[in-house]
Amino acid sequence: MAPAKRDYYEVLGVSRGASLEEIKKAYRKLAVQFHPDKNPGHVEAEERFKEISEAYEVLSDAGKRQQYDQFGHRAFGPGAGGFGFGGIDLEEALRTFMGAFGGGGTIFDNFFGGGGRGREKAGGAARGADLRFDLEIDFEEAVLGSERELTLPILQECGACKGTGAAPGSKRETCRRCNGLGMTVASNGFFQIRQACSACGGSGETIAQPCRECRGEGRVKVRSTLSLKIPAGVETGSRLRLAGKGEGGVRGGEAGDLYVVLHVKPHELFQRRDEDIFIEWPIPFHVAALGGEVEVPTLQGYVPLKIPAGTQSGTLFRLKGKGVAGGKVFRSGDQHVRVVIEPPARLSGKQKEFLRQLADSFTEDNHPQTARLRKLAETFYEHKKVMGK
Ligand SMILES: [Zn+2]
Ligand SMILES: [Zn+2]
Repeated sequence: MAPAKRDYYEVLGVSRGASLEEIKKAYRKLAVQFHPDKNPGHVEAEERFKEISEAYEVLSDAGKRQQYDQFGHRAFGPGAGGFGFGGIDLEEALRTFMGAFGGGGTIFDNFFGGGGRGREKAGGAARGADLRFDLEIDFEEAVLGSERELTLPILQECGACKGTGAAPGSKRETCRRCNGLGMTVASNGFFQIRQACSACGGSGETIAQPCRECRGEGRVKVRSTLSLKIPAGVETGSRLRLAGKGEGGVRGGEAGDLYVVLHVKPHELFQRRDEDIFIEWPIPFHVAALGGEVEVPTLQGYVPLKIPAGTQSGTLFRLKGKGVAGGKVFRSGDQHVRVVIEPPARLSGKQKEFLRQLADSFTEDNHPQTARLRKLAETFYEHKKVMGK
């Protein structure tokens, strides 16, 4: 088994809501640090370089990133149909690296050119926070998909003041304490200590008359109803990303994203492991003895299962392709059926009579399993006798 793969966002040291610009910036910084040319013969650095290149290749591609957000590493693991790659080699990592710098020119020339515009805009605009919401769903919803409406209290731009925090007719003014700098500088003789201005909270502006709806915050908690589409095939830990549905931005900043993390409730009949389904299904003892056919439930409906004569309790059967539907990304799973022999729970007088007659006719030949195990027990007792114990 390969060691557990690190989360791609963690590898690049960016948040789940990071913009492409931020991802590029983080990648460039790390890729330069761990580039094999800078660390010749250093195996660990080479591994890191491959790891960050792989993370970048996924997170810099909107489609792959969405797959990864939803399914994690499983989206690209073995058995993944679409664009399968399980790991990346050094050559590929170097190609990714060159690609990220636009191909031309020497590699180390253009790191610091161009570059990452941050999220902060003039005027204190800031992106809203990403939110995580844990949602418990039924087994049926996970394998078949479903649609849900979520009503969540989410901080959003205040409608009354349009996010400015100032009461209608009132305006934001340059903070008098810090003259709009957003910070104050104190000195203790040796050091200058910069602190966020307490009068304006670092925004550089104050409000003469705060908006009454949001008490000057510019945002209010609003119960918002969101429709969530749960695709078929998700499982516990799957994340759904609702872009722009997180907290509203501050003073014109963009909204954050909402991540819904799914938790699937266990099902009494069907158990699931990845795309495979496991069930235990009873068969009457006469079917086990004579052979026959039973109807077994699958996610797709009842399916006939042939039972050979003399089938033992606990025998496993496989129904190919009857697991969780694979869709575009994964192979379809199988259903594994473990049969358990169910003796009749109630018998009429006549049935009992028949059964006794039948039982009288049985010999050791009818039950070879018992005969075989008895032989093992007897060998043990013989040895015991020889040893005088
Ligand atoms: Zn307001
Ligand atoms: Zn201030």
